[in-house]
Amino acid sequence: MPVFSELIGQNEIKARLKGFCELSSGHAFIFVGPKGIGRHSFAKKFASVLLCSGPADSRPCGKCRSCICLREGSHPDYKEILPDSKSGIVKTDTVRKALVGDIGMMPQLSEMKVYFIDADSLNEQGQNVILKTLEEPPEYAVIILSVVSASAILQTVRSRAVLLKFGLYSSDEMKAILNSHGYVSDRMTEFYSVLSGGIPGVALRMIGEEGYGELRRETIGVAEKIPSAAYDKIFLDVLPFFLENKLYVTDIIRFLTSWFRDAAVMAKDKGSKLIVNTDQRGKLIEYCERNGNHDLKYMRCVTICDRCAADLELNAAFEICIGTMLLRIRKELSVNA
Ligand SMILES: [Zn+2]
Repeated sequence: MPVFSELIGQNEIKARLKGFCELSSGHAFIFVGPKGIGRHSFAKKFASVLLCSGPADSRPCGKCRSCICLREGSHPDYKEILPDSKSGIVKTDTVRKALVGDIGMMPQLSEMKVYFIDADSLNEQGQNVILKTLEEPPEYAVIILSVVSASAILQTVRSRAVLLKFGLYSSDEMKAILNSHGYVSDRMTEFYSVLSGGIPGVALRMIGEEGYGELRRETIGVAEKIPSAAYDKIFLDVLPFFLENKLYVTDIIRFLTSWFRDAAVMAKDKGSKLIVNTDQRGKLIEYCERNGNHDLKYMRCVTICDRCAADLELNAAFEICIGTMLLRIRKELSVNA
């Protein structure tokens, strides 16, 4: 019986992968879920079970040559096809060489071969190359395509693969994951855990990376500035903050969303325990007093932020998206706008 118990949550996916391991059926999988949800960790664990040569009821054994090689990153039967570091895309040539040119050769160490493909930046040409392989895959090969959205994958490829969708983690699961990474529960880990929206990779990055406290403080400063800023100041004073921190824009929008959601809660009940920015209670009370105790307008700001995040995900023009978001928030909150 293969073991996935070390991984927290995603019980349905674990049950299905377990089923596939036992039956050795299914040759291609599409792992779908947001960045940081754990698609790669699950793929690696799935591969370790498939490749392990230990007793069938205790895979992965962690001790056989296969388990050791996989852990050390030198397993000849496990390949990762990743985007080119310069262009950021998975080159069609790489797919040809690492997958098509390799899959016909028998496994060297294990009974199977596993290919993990970071498919978000895999273009149509690259997917068509994979398609030919998926039409007649060798018995021993398993291909895992990993993407944020299933729509990134051609229908012809999708129809030949098993789609597994990763769900967001509950707060108890998030706590367990953060604990397993050595973070004890305190006010800040809980804050980032909620702010991440149930995505462990996001919470871990925010907790572990220096500078997030500062980024959050600056974002709160921006939220405070918007309602009273003159029209041109939005472009002169506020927009540059987003341009300078373009790489972190998703996190900045998360901070903003949490701020407005909290303002909506506080507008109705100053003593509410439901807010996320618990260390900013005083500032939030002032904010609501200054900009009006109307929960609905703060909720509309949340919607404006969500819309901006969704547009950016679809690669909409950065400055236009952010500029539009800022002006719409200003219009919502400003008495003079
Ligand atoms: Zn093993």
